Amino acid sequence: MPKSDIEIAREASIRPIIEVGEKLGIPQEQILQYGPYKGKVSFDFIRSLEDRPDGRLILVTAITPTPAGEGKTTTTVGLGDGLNSIGKNAAICLREPSLGPCFGMKGGAAGGGYAQVVPMEDINLHFTGDFHAIGIAHNLLSALIDNHIYWGNELGIDSRRVAWRRVVDMNDRSLRQIVSSLGGAANGFSREDGFDIVVASEVMAIFCLASDLEDLTERLGKIVVAYTRDKKPVLARDLQAEGPMAVLLRDAIAPNLVQTLENNPAFIHGGPFANIAHGCNSVIATRTALKLADYVVTEAGFGADLGAEKFFDIKCRKAGLKPSAAVIVATVRALKMHGGVAKDDLGKENVEAVKKGCSNLARHIRNVKAFGVPAVVAINRFVTDTDAEVEAVQSVAQELGAKAILCTHWAEGSQGTQELARHVVELVESGVDQFAPLYDDEMPLWDKIHTIATHLYGAHDIQADKTVRNRIKELQETGYGHLPICMAKTQYSFSTDGNLKGAPSGHSVTIREVRLSAGAEFVVAVCGDIMTMPGLPRTPAANNIRLDPEGRIEGLF
Ligand code: ADP
Ligand code: MG
Repeated sequence: MPKSDIEIAREASIRPIIEVGEKLGIPQEQILQYGPYKGKVSFDFIRSLEDRPDGRLILVTAITPTPAGEGKTTTTVGLGDGLNSIGKNAAICLREPSLGPCFGMKGGAAGGGYAQVVPMEDINLHFTGDFHAIGIAHNLLSALIDNHIYWGNELGIDSRRVAWRRVVDMNDRSLRQIVSSLGGAANGFSREDGFDIVVASEVMAIFCLASDLEDLTERLGKIVVAYTRDKKPVLARDLQAEGPMAVLLRDAIAPNLVQTLENNPAFIHGGPFANIAHGCNSVIATRTALKLADYVVTEAGFGADLGAEKFFDIKCRKAGLKPSAAVIVATVRALKMHGGVAKDDLGKENVEAVKKGCSNLARHIRNVKAFGVPAVVAINRFVTDTDAEVEAVQSVAQELGAKAILCTHWAEGSQGTQELARHVVELVESGVDQFAPLYDDEMPLWDKIHTIATHLYGAHDIQADKTVRNRIKELQETGYGHLPICMAKTQYSFSTDGNLKGAPSGHSVTIREVRLSAGAEFVVAVCGDIMTMPGLPRTPAANNIRLDPEGRIEGLF
């Protein structure tokens, strides 16, 4: 029996967090400690770094995944350790996991095998309380809205058009649609309401895109919370909500520092959804890491069509970041799936299917290069992979002008990514990167969506019914036309049909709805069923999670 992630994590020789901070030159007193192994880097210290040069930023992304995930987080950790093991000063930046999935489907968000971040129980559970702070700041705004309506509704909020739902960090389908304020006049005006999971909150997206406390406050004020009867937007700042919300987020906004199993620095901060939001850790954490390390490895959620695109077009554009290289994680089993093999047969050797499935990899490589970012493929090795299958991937990648490097970090830690690390250094130092977003701010919203769909998804065109087209027009004309697009579509295909594997082309992308995230500063184009409050499966992971007689956590991954 191979060891479980939690068993491996528990055997780690974890170092005090101040020692990890020391490696990055952070003075001990500038780490606000949450116990011995977790800390937040103080804002005073972060401010003092402004004039330092930035390190190099490396994005870890992936091919179109299987539902199990292809190992982006694991590879981010593995590459960070690999770079350190070849003598570089490297840090990683990851998202904070959400509590909901921990108790739902098995599978952590802190890497796996010998490429993990620790203390993994803490990171996967309440960590430093950031999500609680974000959830409560969000719900304060909800309370202020209903309270405003209760005390006379001076702003004329149409209670049927409140756009701000409530949040909780748990998968709970029974809260998706509710009626609030039941029970009589003293409890307000009852209205339809509902809950999303905290990671879907616009406050989470704002938290991750804000450059500092001032920007955070400003963005919170711009959230559109409701509309009046004549459809005029009501903003959070009309309710004077941005001040107290920022107060609740003041401590949380300082980035968290933890370590990998090999004691290398890991910033884990913020965790927005990758569908209705952009799916990357906070800008503050990434910028801090770039000031302190020569190489910063970071992950963006989902496959490269969504994750890398949003990382480039939303995060990098807004934060002025210039990625120097991208690592595209591929697995033999996912390529086989793209080659038409059924889920239950993925464990059997099938070189032809791997080759066929490389059409998916090919398009992702081409897409990443379209942003001016040099790419390398990391083949994340699973025990079932055969040499012939791995070689097939390598030869296809070679033809596409990208190197594909076999990585065994899951089984071996940094030993398994040294070759990848050396190649990444080579790519970065060659200075061939010429990063540019896919479209300009000035391009109209409709054309931006069209550009993404046709250039990256292989679509022939985009379509939307009249209501959606009118809404896009309205946003364009009311001062939101310069915002980037946040695509919300299935992560399981380049198309909007999760069953279309490989590299489908000529399809049409239907925009079902558009949502304005005015504070986060993007327009969400919804192209499928987007679940903002997941449910628990029939047998939730929670059933196996318990404390052992010593009070240690059992059953968490
Ligand atoms: P992603 O970030 O792309 O969603 P993760 O890195 O979280 O993927 O990995 C998904 C799951 O697969 C994790 O539970 C991880 O432990 C496991 N995993 C990753 N790489 C391997 C591997 N090479 N062999 C076995 N399991 C792996
Ligand atoms: Mg991940």
